[in-house]
Amino acid sequence: MKKAVVIGSGFGGIAAALRLRKKKYDVTLVEALPTLGGRARVFEKDGFKFDAGPTVITAPYLLEELFEMFGKDMKDYIELLPVDPFYRVVFHDGKVFDYVGDEDRLLEQIAKFSEEDVEGYKKLAAHARRIFDVGYTQLADQPFLSVADMIKVIPQMIGLENYRSVYSLVSKYIKNDYLRQVFSFEPLLVGGNPNSITSIYLLIHWLERKWGVHFAKGGTGAIISGMRKLMEEEGISIKTSFSVEQIENRGKKVSAVISKEGERLDCDLVISNADPATVYKKMISPDILKKHAPKKVEKRHASMSLFVAYFGTNKVYDNLKHHTIVLGPRYLPLLDDIFEKKVLADDFSLYLHAPARTDKSMAPEGKDAFYVLSPVPNNLSNIDWDVEGPKYMDKILTHLENTHMPNLKENLATSFYITPNYFEKDLQSKDGAAFGLEPRFTQSAYFRYHNRSEEVEDLYFVGASTHPGAGVPGVLSSAKVLDKIIPQGN
Ligand SMILES: Cc1cc2nc3c(=O)[nH]c(=O)nc-3n(C[C@H](O)[C@H](O)[C@H](O)COP(=O)(O)OP(=O)(O)OC[C@H]3O[C@@H](n4cnc5c(N)ncnc54)[C@H](O)[C@@H]3O)c2cc1C
Repeated sequence: MKKAVVIGSGFGGIAAALRLRKKKYDVTLVEALPTLGGRARVFEKDGFKFDAGPTVITAPYLLEELFEMFGKDMKDYIELLPVDPFYRVVFHDGKVFDYVGDEDRLLEQIAKFSEEDVEGYKKLAAHARRIFDVGYTQLADQPFLSVADMIKVIPQMIGLENYRSVYSLVSKYIKNDYLRQVFSFEPLLVGGNPNSITSIYLLIHWLERKWGVHFAKGGTGAIISGMRKLMEEEGISIKTSFSVEQIENRGKKVSAVISKEGERLDCDLVISNADPATVYKKMISPDILKKHAPKKVEKRHASMSLFVAYFGTNKVYDNLKHHTIVLGPRYLPLLDDIFEKKVLADDFSLYLHAPARTDKSMAPEGKDAFYVLSPVPNNLSNIDWDVEGPKYMDKILTHLENTHMPNLKENLATSFYITPNYFEKDLQSKDGAAFGLEPRFTQSAYFRYHNRSEEVEDLYFVGASTHPGAGVPGVLSSAKVLDKIIPQGN
C-alpha cells in the first residue's frame, strides 16, 4: 500500500483522508493543534462548549457520502436537525425579515417589505437555480487543472451574467434596499465581498433552498467526532499536536513530512489541508518553485477575517432565533471598509449564533451559549488587536445588550474572543484570513490554488483555498475533486 499523509484536520482534510483510505492508501492524518476540526474545532470554558466556526450545515448528502463509501449509515454517527427560519435578519431600525426555505412563506416575508419585489424575487430565484445547475451541479467537484478546463465554461458563465457581482445581480431583480441586503449577504459566509464577488456564488441561495439549513445535535463538533470515529474504524492513523514544518522532496517529488519537533513521516503522497500559501512559502524548498515562489504567493489576496466573541449567560434568551444576522446602518460602505480600505469601522454587522434554540444540550441547564461574529479586515490592516480586541468586544456586547439581549453584561457566565491573529498564528493562515484565498473571479476555479500542485510531484491540496472554495460544502467538494485525480493506492 502506498503511504499518504494528510496535513490538517479541517472538514476538507478529514474528507480527503477518508477518500484516500477508500482508494486503499495507508493514511496518516496529522494536525498541528491538539484537537481535530480546524475552523470547526470546539472551545471549552467554564462548563460551556462552543463550536468555534461553522454552524450552518447545508448539502448534508456530502457528509452522508463519506459514510456510505464504507457501507455505513451517517445516522448511526451524526444526527442533523433542520433549522427554521434559516436566518432571522434584523435591520438597524428594528425591521425583521425571516429567511425561510418554504417559498410561500418566503414570498410573504418579501411582500411585507415590497409587494413589487415578489415577482422580481421569483426571477432572481430562477436565475440562482440556473447558476446552481452549472456552478454547483456541473462544476463544484470538477478539477480545474488546465486553461482549457476554464475556457470551456466561460460561455456558460457569460450567459449566466457571472461577470456581475452578487449584489449587482440581486439588484437587477430586486429594488428594495433591505431585500437587496437579505439576498446578497451570503457570500460573506465564504469570505467574499457581495459587492465584488462573481454572481456564481448566488448558487448558495439555491443550495439552501434545495437541501435546507441544518444543525448537528451536539453541535458541529459532534460531526467532527463522528468523522473521527469513522476514520478510526477504517484504520486511518491520527496524530495531533504534529505541526508540519517541512515537506521534504527528492528532486521534485515529495518524500516525507517533518514536524516542528523533528518527527519524520516517510510517504509517497502528501495532501495538504493547510493553507497553500503557507505551504509554498514555508514548507517547500524554494529552489523547486517558480509559479508559487514565495514572492508570487505573497501577492495573492487573502479573504477578510473575523472577530468572534464566545459567551455563556446565566439566563436563557429564548427571544432569539438560532441564526440572527444583525445588520448595521451601512451596507456597501461597511463592506468597502472591511475588504478594500481595511479599516476597523465604528459600526458593524454581526452574525449571532444561539445553538440552544435548536438543541438545548448546547448550554448547561438554565443557561445559554452564544457566539457572535463580526467580519473585520485581515491582518494587512495592521490593526493592533491586543489594543483593539478588548474595546471591540465591549462594543459588541454593549450593542447586543441594547438591542437583543437585555442585561447581557450582568448575566455573563463566561466570555472570550478570537481575532485575525488566531487565524494567522493558530491556524497558520496567510494574513490571518478566516476563509483562505479570497473568492474573487481572478482567484476562482482555474485561477485558485490547484488541487494538484503544478510544481511538486505527488503534492495535492484540499480545503478552502482550493477549488471550489470555502464553506463546508465547498471543502467537502474539494475532497471529491481529489478523488477524481488521485490514482488507486495499490
Ligand atoms: C467563525 C467561522 C464561521 C463559519 N461558519 C460557517 C458556516 O456556518 N457554514 C459553512 O459552511 N462554513 C462556515 N465557515 C467556513 C468553514 O468553516 C471553512 O471554510 C471550512 O471549515 C474550512 O475547512 P478546511 O478543510 O479548509 O480546513 P480548516 O478548517 O481551515 O483546517 C485546516 C487545518 O490545517 C491545520 N494546519 C495548518 N497548518 C498546519 C501544519 N503546518 N501542520 C499540521 N496541521 C496544520 C490547521 O490547524 C487546521 O486544523 C465558517 C468559518 C469561520 C471561521
